[in-house]
Amino acid sequence: MPIKSKYISLKNYIPIGLPTVNDFELNEETIDLKNTGEVMVQNLWLSVDPYMRARMTERKNYKPPFEISKPMEGAAIGKVLDTKSKIFTKGEIVLSNYGWRNNFVCKEESLKKINENDLPIQNYLSALGMTGHTAYTGLHKIAEIKEGQTILVSSAGGSVGSLVCQIAKLHNCKVVASTGSDEKIEWLKNELKVDYAFNYKKTDNLVLKLKEIMPHGYDLYFDNVGGDFLESAIFNMKNFGKIVICGRISQMNSTKTPDGLKNMAHVLVKRLTIKGFLIFDHEDDDRDFIRDMTKWLKDKKIKSRETIYEGLESCPTAFVDLLNGKNIGKMLIKI
Ligand code: NDP
Repeated sequence: MPIKSKYISLKNYIPIGLPTVNDFELNEETIDLKNTGEVMVQNLWLSVDPYMRARMTERKNYKPPFEISKPMEGAAIGKVLDTKSKIFTKGEIVLSNYGWRNNFVCKEESLKKINENDLPIQNYLSALGMTGHTAYTGLHKIAEIKEGQTILVSSAGGSVGSLVCQIAKLHNCKVVASTGSDEKIEWLKNELKVDYAFNYKKTDNLVLKLKEIMPHGYDLYFDNVGGDFLESAIFNMKNFGKIVICGRISQMNSTKTPDGLKNMAHVLVKRLTIKGFLIFDHEDDDRDFIRDMTKWLKDKKIKSRETIYEGLESCPTAFVDLLNGKNIGKMLIKI
């Protein structure tokens, strides 16, 4: 039986600057389950992620631009409504990349079953999802974190950052967290037990601030923001320190061409390693992550905090708010 489904799409590309809710629109389509191997899914939870910003320009990136007026994509958790597949049955909970819409029909190979346990299913979009995998992989595989290191984390009150802080504490590291609101600072200090948290928006001189907090410097910087923060961190790294380049959110919406790093001499003299990574290259390597993160969540050693907006229509607002730092932990939509 054909059914009507609503979806959010991009009205126009946004080459520079902060997107607004007027750059998006709500559309409707009719979908139908016709062919063997297809599955009809009703979305329950949608992910809202900074990387989507890069797909809102026409520039080539590691993923192609969103198509104007077509349904947007993104990670989503849904329930099987109807099926012509031998693999999926009605009512099963599945993970897909068909986000920002109510319902969809897809081939069975585009879906992944979720092993339901006693954790909330939306954890598969946060701590047990792509952002948790990013934090885990960035720290273990890319940074090769060691017990007792001193670690600096930017955007520490967000999804990736808050998980980086908590995993680092499980490795008995000293964690210094930077974020943009006093509420996030309280959470990072009181609940996540980081060693030091500060508000970068209230800091006049970042280089001196980072030095004042850790006069002997940092072994590792987990960079979620790029730009001036990265440059300030380089000034404060220890010899042979490592910097993991995970994101560049401070430059994503910039209206001017970003400046280059002016302190590469420090990279040379301190023999630093700077390494970027994309979690999409590590999708098939998630067994240890799922095992460890599931145990940590069940044992309450890691807290998965989510900021939840209600209804498909709230996707654009949630996205703009994410870029403006209104989320604590993972930004999600509940349908
Ligand atoms: P977050 O939950 O951290 O949300 C984004 C946060 O960025 C906001 O809450 C805001 O927090 C902060 N922010 C916004 N503008 C600025 C700015 N100008 N300067 C500093 N901070 C800013 O998002 P995610 O956890 O999903 O992602 C974190 C980073 O990791 C992003 O850069 C993202 O692109 C990247 N990423 C990379 C992946 C990879 O494969 N390499 C995979 C997933 C994410 P605040 O209050 O602190 O300002």
